[in-house]
Amino acid sequence: MIVILKENPNKTQVDSLMAWLESKGIEIHTSVGEHQTVLGLVGDTSKLDMDLLLALDIVEDVKRIQEPYKNANRKFHPDDTVIDVGGVKIGGGNLTLIAGPCSVENEEQIIAVAQAVKASGAQILRGGAFKPRTSPYSFQGLHGEGIRLLKLAREVTGLPIVTELMDASHLPLFEDVDIIQVGARNMQNFELLKLLGHIDKPILLKRGLANTYEELLMSAEYIMAGGNQKVILCERGIRTFETYTRNTLDVSAVPVLKKLSHLPVIIDPSHSAGKWELVDPLSCAAVAAGADGLIIEVHNDPAHALCDGPQSLKPAVFDALAQKLRAIHEVVSAQK
Ligand code: PEP
Ligand code: MN
Repeated sequence: MIVILKENPNKTQVDSLMAWLESKGIEIHTSVGEHQTVLGLVGDTSKLDMDLLLALDIVEDVKRIQEPYKNANRKFHPDDTVIDVGGVKIGGGNLTLIAGPCSVENEEQIIAVAQAVKASGAQILRGGAFKPRTSPYSFQGLHGEGIRLLKLAREVTGLPIVTELMDASHLPLFEDVDIIQVGARNMQNFELLKLLGHIDKPILLKRGLANTYEELLMSAEYIMAGGNQKVILCERGIRTFETYTRNTLDVSAVPVLKKLSHLPVIIDPSHSAGKWELVDPLSCAAVAAGADGLIIEVHNDPAHALCDGPQSLKPAVFDALAQKLRAIHEVVSAQK
């Protein structure tokens, strides 16, 4: 249930309404917008008398929320959520470019790629240290050493870092990581999501290979229910009958998720396409559709990459793409 307050409500009356709701065991999430304050009520609201609430001087409207996701619901928080990562803003009309290799391979590689993508305007560095590979015989990542090298790249370039957490037991290694990624295969690892709800760090949550928008939002809800409101949603392609591409990029995810939720929505064109030549047009489509950012795989030597070389852009190709994306973003923003 949400309670929309009138403009400039009497503070004493608001406090007493909140105290009364809390005495009924209701948790309140207050969202202060430019014109409206919305109280999002979580808990058993079935016994609350809507007419009684509506009759209050300070109340403009009261609505029941039908959707099972509450914290992630745009009705709870009408304004876009903007997540600040070391001064980089994600959401709220900004275009955030995240770039870097699929996996951290060695010091020379990660530093070279970090410097290149930074020069092209990327604001955040990606790089996997724990890799969810289909085959147990494929490169699994450098683990702790990979995270050490990412931090080194951050020191050299100043770029915040994002990397994937696959198992709760590895969490201590991620203490100094700026954004924790939950990969597509772990989107419904509910125990992991619950754990991430209790930490104060942005979470980049990828949509599962065969999950609906509602299931993605429910996974975000798991994190948010624990108190961590900093969730970034990521569409990375879904499984369809098509085999030409690695996955099928669902561009509809951008407008739909942004309508249903206030959380930032970014696109991963690399894992969607599986082919580097498709990364440019898919990225352009994502920005044109209103995405808040992109996470793109870039490698200094894709032909010899230990993971996902065929979908990785060379730095010069990323540079040209980044310029194009900024131009599209400018046009799209001017139309709003
Ligand atoms: C990745 O970003 O490196 C990755 C493995 O992505 P996904 O979970 O989307 O497959
Ligand atoms: Mn990859």
